[in-house]
Formats: sequence, C-alpha cells, structure tokens
Amino acid sequence: MIFRELGNTGRSVSVIGLGCEHLDRKPYEQVKETIDAALSHGVNIMDVFMPGTPVREHIAKALGSRRGDVYIQGHIGATDVNQQYDISRDMPTVKKYFEKLLRIFGGYIDFGMMFFIDSEDDYKNVFETEFADYVQKLKKDGDIRHIGFSSHNPLTAIKAIETGLPEMMMFSINLPFDMLPPETYVFDHFDDGFGADLFRGIDPNRARLYKLCAQKQIGITVMKTLGAGKLLNAKQSPFASPMTVPQCIEYALTRPAVAAALPGCKTAEEVRGVMAYFTCTEEERDYSHVLSAARNDFRGNCLYCSHCQPCPAGIDIAAVMKCLDVAALDEGNIPASVRSLYSSMQKCGADCVRCGSCESRCPFGVQIMDSMEKAVKLL
Ligand code: SF4
Ligand code: SF4
Repeated sequence: MIFRELGNTGRSVSVIGLGCEHLDRKPYEQVKETIDAALSHGVNIMDVFMPGTPVREHIAKALGSRRGDVYIQGHIGATDVNQQYDISRDMPTVKKYFEKLLRIFGGYIDFGMMFFIDSEDDYKNVFETEFADYVQKLKKDGDIRHIGFSSHNPLTAIKAIETGLPEMMMFSINLPFDMLPPETYVFDHFDDGFGADLFRGIDPNRARLYKLCAQKQIGITVMKTLGAGKLLNAKQSPFASPMTVPQCIEYALTRPAVAAALPGCKTAEEVRGVMAYFTCTEEERDYSHVLSAARNDFRGNCLYCSHCQPCPAGIDIAAVMKCLDVAALDEGNIPASVRSLYSSMQKCGADCVRCGSCESRCPFGVQIMDSMEKAVKLL
C-alpha cells in the first residue's frame, strides 16, 4: 500500500480506500470478508455514508478491535427516512442519524462529512443555517476529528471550500465526469449514459476546483472512481474502448490534491481486483489512449497522465506540471506547500536539457520545455 497526506489534516491515508455503499443489505459474513480483505491490503480509510443501521453495525462489528486502525468518513445529513437514501437538513433528523453513527463506531468519526453539497440550496441549507454550527460543535466536542463534505458539483464545492470550514472533501472524479461540458450536472447523464460527442476537454471548473484544493491544502478523497462500473464495460463506456480498473484509479490519483480513491467493493474478490493497481505496469495504468476517440480540445493542457515519460534528465514531468498549475492560479501568492513539494523533487525544471523527447510523446501538445522554464522562474 502507498499512503498520502490528506491535505493538512495530518492524517496519512491509503491511496486506495474502501467505499462501503455496496455492502448495504449484504449478509454479515460477506461484509466481514470484504473488510478483512481491504485491511489485509493496508486500507486505512473507509466511506460509510449509508444511513441504515444494519449495514453500519455489520461494518463496525467486522472491524471489531481494529476500529482505531481505520479512518471512517461518516456523513452528516444522510438519512433513510423513507426506506431510501435521502438527504436531510432537518436538524432533529440529522442529529438522530449522525449520533447513532457515532455510537456504532466507538463514539467518534474521523471525517465528519457534510453530505451532498451540490446545489445552491444545499449550500445555503448547510452553510447558512445551524447545520454548520452543529458540525463545528461536533468537532469542538471531539465527536468528529475533521470537517469534510461531499459533492458532485465543482462550482458549489468551490463555494463550500471558500467558506474556510471544510478541511477535506469527497468528490466524484473520473475521466468522463471531468470531460463533461461545464454547464452539465454529472447525474443528468449518469443513468442514461454519456454520448461521446459530449466530450470536448477537461471542464475548467473541475480543473479549477482541484487546483484550488491543492492551493488551500484541502485533501480530496474520490468517489465514482470506476463510474459505477460503467467505464469498465464495453457497452456502457463512452470511449472507443473501456477503461481498466488500474487506469481509472490512476486517473483519480493523478488529479491535484487527491489523496485516496475509494472504489466501492462488495466482495473480497473485488477488493483484490482493485489492488491489482499496485502490481500492474506503468503502461497498463496509462489512460491517455482512451482520449483518442474523444474530440480533442485538450491541446495545451496537462492531464498529468505521464505519457511523456521517460525523461532522460529524470524529471517527473507530471509532478512539475501539477505544481506549476497550482502556482499559476495566483502567482503572487504561491502556497508554501507547493514550493516545498517542488523543492523536495530530486529533479525539477532546472534539470531540463531541452531534448524535446517528452513533447513528441505528449498526446496533448503541452509545451513542456517552456513549462519547465516557467517552473524555474515561479518556483
Ligand atoms: S505533459 Fe502531456 S504527456 Fe506529460 S503528463 Fe502532461 S498531458 Fe501527459
Ligand atoms: S525536454 Fe526536458 S523535460 Fe522533456 S524529456 Fe527532455 S529533459 Fe526531460
């Protein structure tokens, strides 16, 4: 397992975690087997958004004395009042469900997530009401260790981050979601499928969100990494060929500020399937070819795919590009964390010998040599 810092929370999380949604309504033995498999591979972060008591209790029981070995993302406002997943901002209901979650998981939740902040109404009903006061009190009282939120909408997520309240965020990230036009809400296309003609380039709002998170050290955990399995399926994939699990995970993990991808697994076998990420080759993780079927408006923008490697000077080009993109958000106010990350690189922009081999390999026409020079100037 590989671990990454989750923003500035001080918590180091496994780059692959476990989304527990698909354990809902499964027998205890299956839940235990799945969790045992995840923990045996070093998973230390799990998302438990489900409001139902049986699944929460199954997970807590399966963890047993290992509760302290994992970070739990628990969601505030997730309910199942009508026997279905629902979102509530009604405080007595919100408190009832969250306080039950606290009891089930040993009296504390590591990441208290304000649930599903997608619309303007969601934002107002959380950040401009006693909901936000409740969340802050939970943290003050030690019931939650960190404040987070979940979202699928980059503009609302940016607004939430700019309040200064959240320390981390769970966001839906996969290649087609990132490529939808900015005016699109991902769930409008999720059930019926995506048309390849929709895809033009990376949604600038999403790109801005990831860079903002890196700038403000808001760690991201990822949901919908595999697009609910649709990206893996030849019939449902929006691309000419389906993606593989390692390619989907690699895409999520190469976005700025992302600390962990939390694919949903419902069996030990599925856990082992996602762990294949660690044993496959760089070529097998490379997702850049799947973009060839889409309209190519990506030109000039780095996707951090590393298709340009190897660099004879030993520069991790995607890593330098990521630092540069975050620095360029506000050149007069470059975060110390970005400077420190850049200066910790063994080889950086200054080592570029302008051989040009990377530019001939980059499928997206990024001016890499000029970018290396710019990195030297800025960073
Ligand atoms: S420069 Fe091009 S090939 Fe290299 S990481 Fe960026 S997009 Fe990928
Ligand atoms: S041009 Fe610079 S960054 Fe690109 S491969 Fe050559 S040395 Fe590496």
